[in-house]
Parts: sequence; structure tokens; C-alpha cells
Amino acid sequence: MNILDTLRNNVFLLGSASGLVLLGLWSLVPSNKVDPVQEKRILQFITENSLELSKTTSATTTVIVPDMPQNFVVSVEPGDTLADILQEKKISKKQSLLIIQALSKYVSPKKIRVNEKISLLIKGNADGTSELLRLSVAKDKRSQVEVIKNKDGYYQAKLLEKELKQLTECVTVPIKGSLFADAAKKKVPYAVIRQLIAAYSYDVDFQRDIKAGDSFSVYFERSVDPDTGEEHISNLLYANLKIKGKNRPVYSFETENGVGFYYADAQSVKKQFMSTPINGARISSGYGPRLHPIHGYTRFHRGLDFAAPKGTPVIAAADGVVTRSSWYGDYGHYIEIQHAGGYSTVYAHLNGYAKHIHPGVRVAQGRTIGYVGTTGSSTGPHLHFELKKNGAQINPKTKSLHNSTNKLAGNDLSKFQKVRREIDEKVNASVKSTKL
Ligand SMILES: [Zn+2]
Repeated sequence: MNILDTLRNNVFLLGSASGLVLLGLWSLVPSNKVDPVQEKRILQFITENSLELSKTTSATTTVIVPDMPQNFVVSVEPGDTLADILQEKKISKKQSLLIIQALSKYVSPKKIRVNEKISLLIKGNADGTSELLRLSVAKDKRSQVEVIKNKDGYYQAKLLEKELKQLTECVTVPIKGSLFADAAKKKVPYAVIRQLIAAYSYDVDFQRDIKAGDSFSVYFERSVDPDTGEEHISNLLYANLKIKGKNRPVYSFETENGVGFYYADAQSVKKQFMSTPINGARISSGYGPRLHPIHGYTRFHRGLDFAAPKGTPVIAAADGVVTRSSWYGDYGHYIEIQHAGGYSTVYAHLNGYAKHIHPGVRVAQGRTIGYVGTTGSSTGPHLHFELKKNGAQINPKTKSLHNSTNKLAGNDLSKFQKVRREIDEKVNASVKSTKL
């Protein structure tokens, strides 16, 4: 029986064999009989079977066999440092330092998480010390870093990117009940709906503006891992939320300031105030016939109510400074924020406040400031939202408040128009093909 067969048999014994037994059998292999070609094959074999082998190695049973490269997969435990792990595998301090230095180019050793798997290919020396030939650790879902010992004895790190399959899809969803249930029926990823809601939150009041019979289309790209079929990123490229028969498409576009959504006329979707000052993704009560009787702004109710589950994040409708964050009678837990131009916004019946929200704190639009609750004089979990001008409540739906803050110009504008045309063509082609 040759060495490779011995290894194979041992690996197949794994179900019943303990790590020590397996490593014990390995040590029976006389090291002087390993020729370079065979060593290479063994190395490859070990690498390919590293996951099975990993079951047999743990911090307490490390046996490093001289001259036999072994692959260990170590699961990081709380409190472990990479230096500890290397030391435990009998790697010298000097080597460890070089390894950590090389790795730091891509991954901070301090950022290696608990339960993260680190794969180590180690060769034992006759004097009881050992040598690291290769270390690999995931950087993120799409890439891993490999640290390899080169001929000069130095360590070099390289980044290995996983090739993901890019797919684009266009889906139209009629709204019948809740946005989420309807989207799920058409297999639109959750991440895509979240991006759609974020893009329209400035303009659309997700509690009152959408009714059964409205619809939306989304054109998005997804990156799929060809090995596992696992989906990594879903990017919304275009959406069209059709309310009362009126189209209002938005396009994803990248400028120096990052990726944002723009209307067809190149106006940013961003406005001074948001129309839905809670995480709209959590408005789960549904639309149309199932809509709860939620108050709108009237002479007697000078605010807007948003029904949402207790704990739903409440976000700052605009940039500003917190002026109050405390109990306020019938309003329950209450936040007031002062904005530019003499405006302020009120958030009431909260379950609680977000961390670091105190009077005097500056908040950016969209930042979580508290959580939906039913404190004070309230009949169920909802956010009571008010907009004030110079201290007096005004209707938050006042159109002039929702002027765009930014329109693309110059080079950005011509690039945007090109992107828009391309997306329109793809969306139109897809709509035609689904109608056939
Ligand atoms: Zn109210």
C-alpha cells in the first residue's frame, strides 16, 4: 500500500477514528520514503481534504509530525489572537511576526472574528519546531487572503477573489396586500425592496400614498456564487413605483459622492425632509382594504401617524440638532429635532431612544433616533410625527418642503443620461418579452 492509499483509508476512517488515532497512523509513514513528487501529491490531497481533516484537529490535540506537511483548520475561539494560534502550532515568534505583517496588508489580525476558520499548512521540523507554508483566511464572502512562504523564507500575502456570476433581472409586482408579501411572491430579494423603500422614502408616505392596485417594477443585478448558488449582493439599478397610474422611475447612478438614486430629469431623490420617517421596510400592515385607520393631518390631528411593529427604527426626517429626548405627558417618550429654516420635527409614543440621542446632539437625515412604541396616550404601536414651522404644527405633506436638494450637471449629467437610456432600453425589452 502506498502512502496516498494509506492516507485515503485513514481519511475514510474518520467517522469513527479520533484525531489522535489518525495522526498516530500518519506517524507510521516513514518520512525518508517520501519522494518530492509524492510529497506534492500528498500536499494536494491534504489540501483537498482539509475540511474533513479539520474535524480531527483542535487546540488540545495538535501533533505535528516532522517533515510531513499537514493542513489544520482552526476555528477562532473567543479571546484567541492569531499569534496565540500560531504559537500553539509551534511556529516561532519571529515567523509569526512576519506572517502577521504579511497578512495585515489585506486583513487586520485584530479583525479576525470568533468562529472564523483559519487554514494552516504546516511542516514539522526534526527539532520540534514547525514551519508555516501557507495560511489562508476569508477576507469577506467574496475573497480570501493567502499568506505563502516564498523561497527566501519571507511571507507574502495575496488576495484571491471569487468569480461571481452577475445576473440582471426585471420584475413587475402588482401591489395587492403588503409590499413585502407581494414582492416575495415574485421572488424579488428583500435587499432590493429595502433599497426601493430607501430611494422613495423622501417622496412617498409608505403608510398613506400606496393603495392596492398600484404597482412597482424593479431592475436589479444579483451576484451569485457559482459553487454554492448563494446570493451575495443585490443591487437595485432602477425602480418605478407606479402610484395612481403615475410613473416615477428612479435610476441608480454613481458620482464622486457615492451611489444615489435620481429621477429621469437628473434630480436627486434626496429632499430636505423625508416623507416616511421610519424604516419603511417595517410597515407591514398592508395596503388597500387591509389598511389600518391611521390618522392623517387634519384640523384636529396635527401630525401623521405611522403604524409599525414595536421596535421599528424611527429615523431623523432631516439633518438637525436634538432639542428634547424625554417623556412628555400624553406624547410618551418624545424626541424633537431643530432643522434649518425654522423647522422642527416631533417623534412621539416611542418605545425608547437610540444610543447617544440627547439634547444638543447633531443628527444626520436617515439616522436612527428611537424606536416605535405605544407610550403615553396611545392605542397601539405607532409613530406620531409632526412638522413645525417656527413652533407651530404644519402639514408634513406640504409640497414645497419636498424640493430636491441636488441636480446632476455637466459631465455627471451626460453620463447619467447615457446610463438612463441603457437602463430604459433593457427594461423596455424585458417588459416586451414578458408580455409575449
Ligand atoms: Zn398621532
